[in-house]
Amino acid sequence: MGFLYPRINPSLCTDCGLCEKICAFKEAGPKDKPLAQAIRFPALLRESQSGGLAYALMRKTILEGGVVYGAAIERDFSVSHRRVEDEAGLQPLRLSKYVQSNMDGIPGKVLEDLKAGRKVLFTGTPCQCAGIASIAGKYRKNLLLADIICHGVPSPAVWKGYLESMERRKGKPLSAVLFRDPSLGWHEHSEALFFEDEKLVSGEYTFFFYRHLMLRPSCTACPFASLDRPSDITMADCWGVEKALPGFADDNLGCSLLLMNTPEGRAAAEAFPDPCERKDIDIKDVTQPNLSSPSLAHKRTKSFENTYIRKGYDAVLARFGRESRSYKLEQFIQKVKRHI
Ligand SMILES: Cc1cc2nc3c(=O)[nH]c(=O)nc-3n(C[C@H](O)[C@H](O)[C@H](O)COP(=O)(O)OP(=O)(O)OC[C@H]3O[C@@H](n4cnc5c(N)ncnc54)[C@H](O)[C@@H]3O)c2cc1C
Repeated sequence: MGFLYPRINPSLCTDCGLCEKICAFKEAGPKDKPLAQAIRFPALLRESQSGGLAYALMRKTILEGGVVYGAAIERDFSVSHRRVEDEAGLQPLRLSKYVQSNMDGIPGKVLEDLKAGRKVLFTGTPCQCAGIASIAGKYRKNLLLADIICHGVPSPAVWKGYLESMERRKGKPLSAVLFRDPSLGWHEHSEALFFEDEKLVSGEYTFFFYRHLMLRPSCTACPFASLDRPSDITMADCWGVEKALPGFADDNLGCSLLLMNTPEGRAAAEAFPDPCERKDIDIKDVTQPNLSSPSLAHKRTKSFENTYIRKGYDAVLARFGRESRSYKLEQFIQKVKRHI
């Protein structure tokens, strides 16, 4: 399904056992209860996925002379992590990319920066942050880790197959993509595809994502789906803020949930160069499923994968999409059950 997996090169391995010793999955996260705030940066909302927290943190790091790592969309619309040293370079790191990001070569670069005495902000999924924490070792003090609450990462192969299928159906090449278009409003989750002269708001890919049909298998057993985070800061959508803090963010433009998990996280989030509105919040009022357990795989995941591998994207769209007979039947059965 195009997921990337780390592999040991046996011809280079000296059997020292260090990789097992530092394995991120063995390490417990910080034990302090996180401090939670709802936060939003009015000037950043239209180009951010939630309340603009990630960009504000990244910009702050750059203005203080640090280096930032985050996920960007490449020319071929694949997604990978990048190292950024200037404000202009931060633009591609904005907004969520709902697909596994390629981390090839990134851990080594982070370590080089830390060894050179640079301050580093790494942003990514909790598993990526835990991996970076485990290699930082004695250089951890110059490293700030900011993870996202993560629903799981979808398949890069399906993302690629989807875009190719859309180009075929439209008969013209794609020029840009947005995984979740902020201009549709914070509560709307649909991808937008841009062709030469046309914007197409689709929801095909997002539909498969939220149905849990194409998540990386490890995401459904994620050890980081809890409040015990591997990072200094956690960033997320502050779902439920309208009810928890009436009048604070009820314009559908977005609001971030900020969890300060360590004293270093608290210090980093104390002040930002961009003006913000922020309020303490009880985490219980804005909690969400992936803060207590991993996403469950859909019971037809294997069948979805087999169909994709054997027949490609158009076949999974016909068999598992919103217009498929099986989905319509499922909806019908649920409707009947509700009325019994
Ligand atoms: C796969 C995925 C699943 C998510 N699931 C949830 C969820 O269940 N609940 C929730 O509240 N929030 C979830 N988020 C986070 C949310 O969508 C926003 O990314 C987050 O709130 C930051 O928004 P922002 O406005 O602060 O920053 P933005 O300016 O939108 O910045 C986006 C940040 O996310 C990072 N990022 C984007 N795509 C990826 C990627 N593929 N891999 C690693 N890092 C990436 C960037 O490096 C950047 O730091 C998820 C994000 C992703 C990528």
